[in-house]
Amino acid sequence: MRSEKMHISSRQNQFKRWSKRKPVQISIIGVVLLLLLFAPLMAQKEKIDEEYTAKIKEFTTETFFTTKYVDHLPFSEDVPTQLDILGYIAGAPDIVSYSHEVYKFMQALADASPRVTLTKIGKTEEGRDMILVVVADEETIANLDHYKKINALLADPRKIKDPSEAKDLIKKAKPMYWATGALHSGETGSPEMLMELAYRIAVGESDFIKTIRENMIVMITPILEVDGRDKAVDLFMAKRKDPEATVARSPIYWGKYVAHDNNRDTIGLGLNITNQVLDTYMEFHPLIMHDLHESIAYLYASTGTGPYNAWVDPILIDEWQELAHQEVSEMTRLGVPGVWTHGFYDGWAPNYLFYVANGHNSIGRFYETQTARDGSTRIVRASENRSWFKPNPPLREVVWSFRNNINYQQSGILIAMNHTAKNAQKFMGNFYLKSQRSIQKATTEGPAAYVIPGDNPRPAQAASLIRLLQRHGIEVHKAKKEFETKEGKFAAGSFVVRLDQPYSRMADLLLDKQYFNVNDPRPYDDVGWTAGPLYNVDTVRIADEAVLSAPMDKIQGKMKLGGGVEKLKGGKAQAYIINHDASNSLATFRFAKSDLKIEAAEEEFGVEDKKFNAGSFLLKVGDNTDDLKEQLEEAGKKYEFTAYSVSEIPEVPTHVLDVPRIAIMHTWQSTQTEGWLRMGFDKTSIPYDYISVLDVRDEPNLREKYDVIVFGPSRGNAFSIVNGLPLTGDPIPWKKSELTPNIGVQDETDDMRGGLEMDGVFNLYNFLKQGGLFITLTNSSSVPIQFGMAQGLQIKRTENLWARGGVYSTTFRDRKSPIAYGYGKDLGANFNSSPVFSFSAGGGRFRGGTPSVRTPGSTTTRPSGRGGIGESDVIQGRMKDMAKESVAEFRKAQKEEASTSSSRTSTTRATSRRPRVVLAFQSDVKKLLISGGLNGGSELAGSPAVVDAKVGEGHVVMFSINPFWRNQTQGSYFLVFNAMMNFKNLDAGKSN
Ligand SMILES: [Zn+2]
Repeated sequence: MRSEKMHISSRQNQFKRWSKRKPVQISIIGVVLLLLLFAPLMAQKEKIDEEYTAKIKEFTTETFFTTKYVDHLPFSEDVPTQLDILGYIAGAPDIVSYSHEVYKFMQALADASPRVTLTKIGKTEEGRDMILVVVADEETIANLDHYKKINALLADPRKIKDPSEAKDLIKKAKPMYWATGALHSGETGSPEMLMELAYRIAVGESDFIKTIRENMIVMITPILEVDGRDKAVDLFMAKRKDPEATVARSPIYWGKYVAHDNNRDTIGLGLNITNQVLDTYMEFHPLIMHDLHESIAYLYASTGTGPYNAWVDPILIDEWQELAHQEVSEMTRLGVPGVWTHGFYDGWAPNYLFYVANGHNSIGRFYETQTARDGSTRIVRASENRSWFKPNPPLREVVWSFRNNINYQQSGILIAMNHTAKNAQKFMGNFYLKSQRSIQKATTEGPAAYVIPGDNPRPAQAASLIRLLQRHGIEVHKAKKEFETKEGKFAAGSFVVRLDQPYSRMADLLLDKQYFNVNDPRPYDDVGWTAGPLYNVDTVRIADEAVLSAPMDKIQGKMKLGGGVEKLKGGKAQAYIINHDASNSLATFRFAKSDLKIEAAEEEFGVEDKKFNAGSFLLKVGDNTDDLKEQLEEAGKKYEFTAYSVSEIPEVPTHVLDVPRIAIMHTWQSTQTEGWLRMGFDKTSIPYDYISVLDVRDEPNLREKYDVIVFGPSRGNAFSIVNGLPLTGDPIPWKKSELTPNIGVQDETDDMRGGLEMDGVFNLYNFLKQGGLFITLTNSSSVPIQFGMAQGLQIKRTENLWARGGVYSTTFRDRKSPIAYGYGKDLGANFNSSPVFSFSAGGGRFRGGTPSVRTPGSTTTRPSGRGGIGESDVIQGRMKDMAKESVAEFRKAQKEEASTSSSRTSTTRATSRRPRVVLAFQSDVKKLLISGGLNGGSELAGSPAVVDAKVGEGHVVMFSINPFWRNQTQGSYFLVFNAMMNFKNLDAGKSN
C-alpha cells in the first residue's frame, strides 16, 4: 500500500514540474530529435498480458524493486502463461511449485511454441527427471544440431584446419546461455522465475527480447536438485494445506547424499546432478553457465574477491567482471538498490557446479539474490553499508516478497543475456581463443604434462584416477616405450596427461598443487584438492617438453585395467595371492565374494621375486570351492587385480579377512557430510544398514545386529550429538505422509527430536566391550573421546592453527596395524581445521601455551597460486619464463649474490601410548602441507590422524582426517575398509 502512494506522489511531482514549464516552440530539429528519441520505444511496442501484469504489480512491494524488463508480461495468442497452466504467476505469495508443476508448464510451453524444446537430461538418484528447455527463434531451434556442431569445433581447435574456417565458424555461431536453478533446495525463486523467463523470451516482441532470441540460444534447467526441491516444497506447503501440521522447518535431506554440498562436486563428480550437467555441457558446449542462488541481499553477481583460481585463462576472469558489471551498471542506472559484485565469494576453488563451464573454457557464473524461501512476504533486514563494490547498497529494512526476488533475478539475467547476444562474436571469439590457448599451454606457460609412472604401486587406484580425468573430458595417453625427461625415466606403460589438449587447464588444476596464502581474504571453501595424493597415486609434473614427443597412444574409451590369474611358482596351485595395494576395488571384491575364504597376511612377504604387502589376500585352494581359479579369473578382470597362483603356501602369519555386518549411523541434526561417506560405500558396493542415533539409543543389543558401526562426520561436539534436537514442543516427524509425500526416503522417524543420549553412549560402550568396532570420523570422534572410550586421547584446542580444507601429509606410525595394510609410508589426507588429537598430560609432544610463536615454514612466503609451498606460480595465458633471460643477465652483471637462510625446528618424539596411533600428521611442519594453506602448523604437526583404542573386546578407531570427502579422497577409503574387514584382529602386529 505504502509503495502505491509513493509511486503516485512521485508521479504527481513530476507532472507539476512538467506543467510549470513554458510551452516549447517545436522546431523541425525538435521534431527530428523527438522522433529519434521515441523511435526505439515505438519499435518496442508489444501486446501486454493485462491480467498477469496486474498481478506482477500487485505482488511487487516497491516500485524500485522491479525494472522495465519484467514489470509486465507480453501477451501471446497461442502460448499459455503460468497463470493459464498453473493458476498463479511466478512469485505469487505463498506458492512454491513442485517439480511436476514446473515441468507441466515447461512442457505446455514447448508444445505451444516452435521456439521452445524440452528434453530430459537424466535421472536423479531418487529417480526424478532432470530437464533442459531450449529457447531461440524457430529457425535456430530447427537447426540446433548445426549450432552444437559449431560449438564443438570451436571447443577443439585441433579439428579446425584453417584460421579462416575458425573466423567463419565464429561468425555463424550463436552463443548458448545456460541458466540453471534450484541447486539449493531452500532457495526457491529460480524455478518460478525460469518458467516466466522461458515464456518471455519465446513470445516477447520488444527489441530487447528479440536481440536475445535471434542472436543466441537460451538453455534453461529450472531445477537442478529435483529430489531436494520436492522435499522442500513438501515442508513449505504443508502448513498452508493443514495449519495443524507439524513438519521440520527445513529439509535435513535434499538429494540422496548431500544438501548444500551438491555444489561442491565438480572435482569428484560423484552426484548424478554433476554428471548430467557435465554430459549436457559436452553435448552443447554452452558459452555461459549461470547458476541461480539466493543467500544474500539483494542481487550479488559473481566475480569474487580473489585469490582467483590460478589455472584458468585470465580471459575468463575478465569475462566474469565484464558480465557482472553489466548487471550492476544497468540495474543501478534503473534505480534498483542492492545490486553489487566483488565481495562474498573468492573465486579460488573449482568444485562448484559452474566449473563444468569454467574448467572447459566456457564461462561459469552465479547470482545470490534475496530469497523469499517459503514464498512468504516478510520484513528483510540488511547492512546498509556502502563500499566501493556496493555503492548503492540494500536498504536497512524492507518488506520483501517472492515476486521481488523474481524481479531481481530475471532483470539481471536478461541484462546479461542481452549483453551476450549483442557481443556474440566477441564472446565466441574468446571461447575459441581460450580453447586454442589451452592447447598451446604445454609449450607456452607449461607444464608439458603429468605422468603417472607405469610401475606405480597401485595400478587399480591409478586406473580409477585416470577414469576421473577422462570423465572431465581430459585425454590420457599410454607410453609405448620407456622415455626420459629432465624429471626422470618413465617405464613403458606410463600414463601421460598431455597438456596440449583443449581441457589441459582442467587437468592442470586437478593434478597440480595449490598454495593459498592465509593472509588472503577468507576462503569461501576448500583451498587445496590435489587429486594424486588424495587418490594415493603418484603423479609427476613434467615441465620438460621432451615428454610430448615420447611415443604414446591415446587411451580409447574408458580406462580399464586387465586382470585375472597368473602363475607365479610352478606346480599345482595350493593358494592364490592378491597383493594388497589399498585399491578400493579389492574391498568391493571382498564384499561381493563373501563366500570365499580369504586370509590376510600379517606381514609383508615374497614369493620368488614378487613382493607382497602386509595385508595381502591369501586364498587357499583347500579352503575354497573347486571353481576358485575360475572365480578369480573373472573377478580379477572385473575388479582389476591379479591373483598369483603358488604351489606352496607362503609361511606368513595370517588371520581371516572378515565380511562384517556394518551400520552407518547418522544424527537428525545434519546429514550432509556423512552423505559423502555413504556415497563412498555405495560406489565401492560395501553393504550397510543406515541407522540413526535414535536407533542406537533404543537398542541395547547392538552387538547382535552389527559388527561395525561407522559414525560419519556430524555437527557440533559430543554434547550436542548426545543431546540432539531439543525435546520441546510437538514431535517432529520425518516421514512420508499425504502432506509430505517426498520425504522419509533415506531414513524416517516419527520424531526427530532427542539425540544419542546417555542410553546411546552406554549401548555403544557395551557394543565395544562385546567385540564391536566403532569408527568415528572428524568431529564425531568427540563422542568416544569425551566419554572416555579412548584412554588418554583428547581434542586439543588450537590457538593459531589455520588449516582450512586442504591436503596434508600424514605418515604411518604403525605399519603393522591392519588399518595400514596396503599403504606406503605416507598418505595425502583431507583435513579441515579440527579436530586435532593429542594425548593428555605427560606426553611431552604438545607443549601448548606458546601462541605467539611463529611457525617456521608455515607462512606467508609466497602469494596464492599453483604449486606447493616451495614452488612458483605460473601465470596462465602467456609464455613461460618471459623476461627471465634478461633479468639473469642483468643480475650477473651486477654480480649480486643470493643468500639464503634456513631455520630449523626440532620435534620431540612422543613416547608410545596405549591407544595405537596408526597414522599421524607429518612431524616436520615444512612437509606438512601438500596443497592448500597452513599457518600455526606446529599445532598440527605430529598429531595423531588415526587412532585405534581397545575397549573391552572391541575397538574404537577415530579419524581426525576425513577419509570420505566429496568423492575426492579415494586414497584414504581403505583405512576404513581395512579396519572393518580386520575388525576381529585389529591387535595384529601390536608391539607391546
Ligand atoms: Zn545456494
